[in-house]
Amino acid sequence: MVRYPLIRTILAGAVLAAGASLFSGCGGYEYAGPISLDRHPWLKGKKIFIDPGHGGAGGTDLFRQGPNGITEEEANLKVGVILEHMLKKTGATVAMTRTRDKDVPLDERISMAHEFGPDVLVSIHHNGSARRADGVNYPSVLIWGSREVKPESYDLASILLEEFHKIMDERGSVISDHAVFHETGTRILNRTSQLCPGVLGEGGFFSDEKHALRLADAQYLESEAGAYFTALSRYFQWGVPDAEVMFSCPMRRAGLLSNEISDTKPGITIRVMSGNEYPGIKEETLKVTLDGVSVGFKKIADDMFLLKYGDELYPGGHSIRFSFRNQRGQSSMILRAPFTVSIGAGDRDRLVAEGRRLVGRKKTARKGLHMLLSALSMSQTDPEAGKIVSPIVSGFRAIGDTASASYYEQALVHFYPDSVEAKKIRTRVLGRSGCRFPGDFNGRIVKIKADKAVSDKERNTPGNAFQRIKKFFNGHKPGQAQ
Ligand SMILES: [Zn+2]
Repeated sequence: MVRYPLIRTILAGAVLAAGASLFSGCGGYEYAGPISLDRHPWLKGKKIFIDPGHGGAGGTDLFRQGPNGITEEEANLKVGVILEHMLKKTGATVAMTRTRDKDVPLDERISMAHEFGPDVLVSIHHNGSARRADGVNYPSVLIWGSREVKPESYDLASILLEEFHKIMDERGSVISDHAVFHETGTRILNRTSQLCPGVLGEGGFFSDEKHALRLADAQYLESEAGAYFTALSRYFQWGVPDAEVMFSCPMRRAGLLSNEISDTKPGITIRVMSGNEYPGIKEETLKVTLDGVSVGFKKIADDMFLLKYGDELYPGGHSIRFSFRNQRGQSSMILRAPFTVSIGAGDRDRLVAEGRRLVGRKKTARKGLHMLLSALSMSQTDPEAGKIVSPIVSGFRAIGDTASASYYEQALVHFYPDSVEAKKIRTRVLGRSGCRFPGDFNGRIVKIKADKAVSDKERNTPGNAFQRIKKFFNGHKPGQAQ
């Protein structure tokens, strides 16, 4: 009993109280449970965002209440505050959406996360059954979307579920938040999905009589916080891989078009970081696409991969999208590096004409696709753009990428409904149960390094790279543009 001095006293008398100020900050509370907090060096310096769900309902939220009167918001808060305390002891930096019983609007929680820029986000909840006291009780961990679009969240969720299983008999599962909220998923995970790995833990059912009693027990709440703590420690020990993309040419950062280059044949290198003490990654897990079309790469060092994107980059917007696993098997987030190649007069028409011709032939379809996707990036909002999407569909079919073909078919029907092309396939496409995601998923934008940044002023000085590229697109051949 001596081991849990303050928390036990609080809970003994105050399980049913609203809990305000009881847990404000960690004042007085000292974790003295079985976990040695000084044995988790990999948590040091990590930025962890903790979101104890709900709050401030003042006992009026009768749904989120167990048979013994324990409320979900109260259990969430107590687990969150204990976890905050444990993590801080290891040297982690922690941000909390609330440290007392108050209502914090979801949008405010989301802004707080964006401001904090966490390495990982954990939202703490408990589940409830509408039928009440029906004996249903199991843990679950929600991730945004799916394992395919949030592989790193899935990794963390699986570890957390294992830790939940150690304190609860039931196994439970990792589930997509789209299984709960079909269209958008949970707002907190959805709107932070490009920030960092994120999970929403449901540590059992407060509606279950037995579990509600546990949730009113200080020692149990410490063990639940311990499950989150151990999961986070294991997750960071195994490493959260990250990467940056490097261009071998000057890059203009300012203005509307950030990451703008005028070199059409730059060297593009992805530098991967394993996130733990073992360098290198599982090379076979590195998947790279340029504008949605897979591209090859050449390993030039343990952590460097040079992209093989073809003979040149076409004018217009581009996006490199990639993910990989480290040697320990942990996934990076889906990472994205957007950039633009300077656009000159007539580029769009040239790319459309040439691209349409090339996608028609299997051998050149990939090249044609790159051209058409570049052309599309210049005219997304143009009603005529529907004309470009249709050959893009055929291009993806030609290279055997049926998922992308079907994604662009849906895009054609949804975004260019009045185009002749859309009308032809409308009935067929709408008749098929389509999924708007994961096609719409963009991924987290990674840092792009260029060998030189170019300012607006420099860019407009005659004789610089931009002027040269302008001349090039005015009809000069590359060799003569100098
Ligand atoms: Zn909840």
